[in-house]
Amino acid sequence: MVSRVIPVDPFDLVIFGGTGDLARRKILPGLFRRFCAGQIPDAAAIIAAARSPHSVDEYRALTADAIREFSGVALCNDDRLQAFLKRLDYVPIDARGIDGWAALAARLSPDRVHAFYFSVGPGLFADLAERIHLHGMASPDCRIVVEKPFGHDLASARDLNATLAAHFDEGQIYRIDHYLGKETVQNLMAIRFGNMLFEPLWNSQYVDHIQVTVAETVGVGGRGEYYDRAGAMRDMMQNHLMQLLCLIAMEPPAKFDPDAVRDEKLKVIRALDPVEPHHIVRGQYEALDGEHPGYREAVNQPRSTTESYVAMKVHISNWRWAGTPFYLRTGKRLVARSSVINVMFKDAPHSIFGPEAGRHANLLSIRLQPNEGITLQVTIKEPGPGGMRLVDVPLDMTFAEALGPEGEDPPDAYERLIMDVIRGNQTLFMRGDEVEAAWAWTDPIIAGWQARGEVPKPYDSGSVGPGDADLLMKRDHREWRGIKP
Ligand code: NAD
Repeated sequence: MVSRVIPVDPFDLVIFGGTGDLARRKILPGLFRRFCAGQIPDAAAIIAAARSPHSVDEYRALTADAIREFSGVALCNDDRLQAFLKRLDYVPIDARGIDGWAALAARLSPDRVHAFYFSVGPGLFADLAERIHLHGMASPDCRIVVEKPFGHDLASARDLNATLAAHFDEGQIYRIDHYLGKETVQNLMAIRFGNMLFEPLWNSQYVDHIQVTVAETVGVGGRGEYYDRAGAMRDMMQNHLMQLLCLIAMEPPAKFDPDAVRDEKLKVIRALDPVEPHHIVRGQYEALDGEHPGYREAVNQPRSTTESYVAMKVHISNWRWAGTPFYLRTGKRLVARSSVINVMFKDAPHSIFGPEAGRHANLLSIRLQPNEGITLQVTIKEPGPGGMRLVDVPLDMTFAEALGPEGEDPPDAYERLIMDVIRGNQTLFMRGDEVEAAWAWTDPIIAGWQARGEVPKPYDSGSVGPGDADLLMKRDHREWRGIKP
C-alpha cells in the first residue's frame, strides 16, 4: 500500500541550533526524506541559524554529511540531495545578543507560514522568543516548535509557559514529544476509536491491568550532565510514558481535533492518584563485565542517587478505570530495546472446560518499537485428540508486513511532526496545561524520594531491571511482559 503524500504550501522553516546533534540526526534527515517523498515544494526555504560562523556552502556540506549518515542510504541519491541542499540557507546568530537577527528577518518571505524550531538548550528558549518578537517576525500566523525538556518541575514549566505566552498564543506553540509522532502511537487511537471490537471492553470491567514498558539498551551516553539532573522520572516518565498512558486511558474525544484530544488527555492526568511510595521502584545500572561503565561512572558522579530506571503502579480514579492498575516502567541499559503496551484482559468468568484446561486471558500487545505492530493473544483448542486442552496463540499483525509498500519506510516521528507544524495541526503536540498537570503529578513523587533520602536499587546492565520491580508485580499475582531476556 503506497502512502498518499499531500504536498504542503511553500513555507519558511528556521532551525535555531541547526548545527546541533538533534538537527543533524533527526530534523535535517527527516526534512530530506519528506523532500524525497514530494511533500516539500521547491519554493520552501529551510534556514538554519546557529552560533558557529559557517558560510551557506559550508553548512550545506555539513548537512550533506549528516543526511548521508542518518537518512537511509537508499534515498540518498546525489541529484535529490543537491536539489534539497539548494533549499538550505544559513545565518550565524547569537541567541543572547544582536548578531544575525536582522539578517534572519530579511531572509523570510512574506505571505507564507514561518515556523521557528527551537533546537537549542531550554536556557535559550526565552531569548529566542523575545528576539523573534523584537525583530518583527512574530506574525499571528507564525509558529514555534519547542523541544523537550519542557521545564524541570512545575514551577519552571509554568515560568516557561508564561515566557512563551508573552510572545505567542497557545495555538502557535508546538511542544514536541516525538513519541506522539510514532506510527503505532497514533494507531493506538485508530485501534481504539476506529474499531467496534475493542472499545466496549476497554474498561475496568474487562481489563485486568495495563502495562507500559519503554526499555532502552543504551546508557546515558554523552548526555550525562543533563541526565544526572533529570533521571528516568523526568526524562521519560513525566512526558513519554505519561503521554502513552493518556492515549490508552482517555475517553473518546468527540472528534479528532487538537483541543478535543488534548482535553481528554488532560482529564486522565488530573484523575491520576498520588502514587504510594511502596508502589514505585527506582534503579540505577551497574557496569557489565568492565565492558560498559556503570551509571555513576558514566555521569562522573560517584555518589549519584539519580535513577536510570523507574517502575510504578498507578491508578486512575474515574468511572472507566477505578480498580484497574496501570504498571509503567522505563529504564536504560536493559536487556532489550522494546517499547510496548500490554492490555491484559480478565479471565473468562467461568470455564466450561473444567480446571484442567487452565486459566486463560486475552492479551492485546501494541508494539511501538522495534517491529511496530499489534498482537492479540487468543485462546483456542490445542490441536489433536485426547480431550479439550486449551492453548494461547497470537494473532499477529506487523505493520511493515501488512501495510508497507515495497522498500518504503513509514515516516519517522520527527518528519511527521514537522509536517504537522507546517500544516498547523497541533493534535500530536502537548498543550501547556497538559505539561503543567504532568509536572503537578510528578513533583510530589520526586520530593518524596528526596525527603526520605531514597537511594535507587542497583541492577545489572543487560538485565530486565531491579528485582524489586518484579516483586511489585508478584505482590499482585501478576508478571511483567514485554522485555525478552
Ligand atoms: P547541541 O548542543 O548538539 O546543539 C545546540 C545548538 O544550539 C548548536 O547548533 C549551537 O550552535 C546552538 N547554540 C548554542 N548556543 C547558542 C547561542 N547562544 N546562539 C545561537 N545558537 C546557539 O544540542 P542538541 O542535542 O541538538 O539538542 C537541542 C535541543 O533538543 C535541546 O533542548 C535538547 O534537550 C533537545 N533534544 C535533543 C535530543 C537529541 O537527540 N539530541 C533529543 C530530544 C530533545
